[in-house]
Amino acid sequence: MDLKPLKPVKDILRDCITTLANGNLLFPPVCQNCGERTDSAEVWLCNKCVENLEELEPGLCPECGTKLIKGECFECGRPDVPWTEVQALYRYNDALRVLIHKLKYQDKRKIADYLAEKSADWLKAKHIFSDAEIIVPVPLHHVRQRERGFNQAALLAERLGKLMNWEYHANVLGRTRATVKQSMVEFEDREKNVNNAFKVKKPELLTNKRVVVIDDIYTSGSTMKALCRTIKECNPTCLYVFTIGKVC
Ligand SMILES: [Zn+2]
Ligand SMILES: [Zn+2]
Repeated sequence: MDLKPLKPVKDILRDCITTLANGNLLFPPVCQNCGERTDSAEVWLCNKCVENLEELEPGLCPECGTKLIKGECFECGRPDVPWTEVQALYRYNDALRVLIHKLKYQDKRKIADYLAEKSADWLKAKHIFSDAEIIVPVPLHHVRQRERGFNQAALLAERLGKLMNWEYHANVLGRTRATVKQSMVEFEDREKNVNNAFKVKKPELLTNKRVVVIDDIYTSGSTMKALCRTIKECNPTCLYVFTIGKVC
């Protein structure tokens, strides 16, 4: 009987060291949503959970979710919005909620890279915002940013900017005051909560430019509207809004 030759000991050792170095042996990569093992630490969701992320149709009315025709909604009438166009990649469902939560509160910054890559693929495939020049994140108040250590929208903006070839500016926008978290405020009071809460610190960077503003989630739209009204005062050529998720 022929025995298969054993792998030389040094090869086995090398494999072990490589696995250890990648952290796969000590911390096997798992799906961030359901905990199933995944193939690599760069994959944040297992295949089953990736399927649970629901891509949205481009060009839906931000108010009622109806498909826009030439930028107009025939369901609720064209809402009076301060931007040129608004787009979101995913419906804000359980799978996305878990990812965003880990990104924000458990410092899983690589999730931002993952979501930015998905966004870039989608924007390119659908030819959305292809003439944009600059990307800026919705700012966090500096106190909250210090608490969290980072602004998740800035992480998304930086990575997406690289992938789309858009100039990324971290500190063009700022907050004039700390606001109560929108999630803690009743829906009808959200607009008041963020009214006049923003300022443009470097307006010259946005004037006559095609600007993308990015945030993680579009909920009531009050934050985005307040911010975009402020940005519009510096006369950008167009103002695009992009969020990873949209409540709908
Ligand atoms: Zn999973
Ligand atoms: Zn509508």
